Amino acid sequence: MNTTSPLITVTDAWRLYGSLNQDQALAGATLAVDKGEFVCLAGPSGSGKTTLLNLIGLLDLPDKGQITIMGHDTMSLTLRQRAIFRRCSLGFIFQAYNLIPVLSVAENVEYPLILRGKEKQERAHLVERALKLVEISQHALKRPGELSGGQQQRVAVARAIAGSPPIILADEPTGSLDSGTGTALMNLLLRLNQQLGITFIFSSHDPNVTSRAQRIITLRDGKVAHELTETKEKRRKCSPPQSSENT
Ligand code: ADP
Repeated sequence: MNTTSPLITVTDAWRLYGSLNQDQALAGATLAVDKGEFVCLAGPSGSGKTTLLNLIGLLDLPDKGQITIMGHDTMSLTLRQRAIFRRCSLGFIFQAYNLIPVLSVAENVEYPLILRGKEKQERAHLVERALKLVEISQHALKRPGELSGGQQQRVAVARAIAGSPPIILADEPTGSLDSGTGTALMNLLLRLNQQLGITFIFSSHDPNVTSRAQRIITLRDGKVAHELTETKEKRRKCSPPQSSENT
């Protein structure tokens, strides 16, 4: 019997829009994620994936329901406590990379570490380590605009992992990439999950991406429609060893 509490629990989460709250982006979503999992939120466009990731990422508040992360009832945190929690415990990867174009690759990765109050020397060490982990050190001084889409997304991954957050949330991380580059990116995320023990929750509606997950949680109309746990054997078959450098 598993006696440890899940890392993340979402209980009966609702997110409503419209003047009469008639639009239900989430309509009673309930799920739990354990430490170290590699979980995909699947489901058609409009099913609530981004809304749910935004709630777990403390970027938004539910109209009703409870979200507990690492033992903290996030609904009872103040705005400032939410910001600190987000900065220290959560990493984010977005479909559009969201890099700052005027900063170099290294400066993009360093920026959140400045917000976290890390000293210059430690920042330099953490940036170097993160760039090495995503195999992009040789581009450290370039601007994002000088890189391919796959390389830019790896910079975004480096930025997300640099401060060693226990949880990374990725909203359609391969959505702007071609399928080969998307596969390489998923290989990278899976390697970081296994190597660093980071819990990943990512969203996708692409079967080539969802099939890489250890567990697929499918949303429909703002609710969890079903869950599917893949065997490790199947994941290994989907994941040929390859360097991400050719992306
Ligand atoms: P997905 O990520 O699965 O495509 P979303 O979470 O983005 O789905 O959206 C779920 C539903 O909520 C959609 O019908 C969307 O139009 C609606 N929605 C999301 N955000 C807003 C908003 N800020 N205002 C109004 N409706 C919204």
